Amino acid sequence: MGEERLLDGVRVAAEISAEVATEVAALKTGGVTPRLDVVLVGEDEASRVYVGSKARACAKLGMESQTHHLAADAPQEEVEGLVERLSRDDAVDGILVQLPLPSALDTGAVLERVDPAKDVDGFHPMNVGRLQRGRPGLVPCTPAGIMELLRREGIEVAGRRAVVVGRSDIVGKPVAMLLLHAHATVTICHSRTRDLAQVTREADILVAAVGRKALIGADHVKPGAVVVDVGIHRVSDRDEVERLFPGDEARLELLARRGSVLTGDVDFSAVAGRVSRITPVPGGVGPLTIAMLMANTVRAARVRRGA
Ligand code: NDP
Repeated sequence: MGEERLLDGVRVAAEISAEVATEVAALKTGGVTPRLDVVLVGEDEASRVYVGSKARACAKLGMESQTHHLAADAPQEEVEGLVERLSRDDAVDGILVQLPLPSALDTGAVLERVDPAKDVDGFHPMNVGRLQRGRPGLVPCTPAGIMELLRREGIEVAGRRAVVVGRSDIVGKPVAMLLLHAHATVTICHSRTRDLAQVTREADILVAAVGRKALIGADHVKPGAVVVDVGIHRVSDRDEVERLFPGDEARLELLARRGSVLTGDVDFSAVAGRVSRITPVPGGVGPLTIAMLMANTVRAARVRRGA
């Protein structure tokens, strides 16, 4: 497919990051260096990688960051106590609790300890409520990134049919709410939706946040639709890569070099010929999530410090 049909998350994320870096420089001139504190519990490999990339992103944009690493068996009180301490600490602008937490912990109770003014993930009930009301607040990073991508790529949202597949608190519900506020007519699908393809075929804008590899195929997509693929899956089986990306030699080379390649919730090869615009995986939604985290941290710093 032509490059011009790709929704370029890398380019848009770089644009947002450059704006954030300029804001950070201005804040520093006024004596404020935004600081993000990340709480990591346990040894989950993917979480460690994500936390590392968040710290690097902070450093690159001139912000401070600190990671607080607790043992996998840390009791509920210890995790909540740490989050409460960070909430009270005036030097901390943003708090992020890396999810998923170990299953023994009550995630909701931990997230409620985050000061809503420092809640850069937008998961505190106060910010969830503000989002629902359409009031200013901190908005979850992946949904906020999707809206920035649509806006900066010139995709019209008002008046159009949007279908979101997935109803998680992290992606599905908040992105549906943001699309609604942007005046789309929104439908949310989930695992109990009957005849998913019939519903998704009505979408002018289709957001897939399902967590099921290549679930969305050609049958699910109306010709000319805009497709946003939030899913991230690692594929290491060569036959599967060949099936998902027929004739894609570059992808096979990458597989040979790295041992795995990434793919999304959308069967990109099957769908690409039907769409007007589509996000690739990688290089679509992923880079925006971290860019919006940085943007939220700067925003939290400005609002809280009146800077
Ligand atoms: P969850 O597992 O929390 O939610 C998945 C949703 O999809 C649920 O609402 C579920 O329905 C629904 N679903 C599952 N199977 C089907 C099906 N067969 N048909 C219709 N709906 C179905 O996932 P997340 O929202 O956290 O993440 C979704 C994907 O996005 C994952 O691949 C994740 O890795 C990725 N992700 C990517 C990010 C990025 O930065 N690019 C950030 C966050 C997530 P039900 O509610 O009925 O169970």
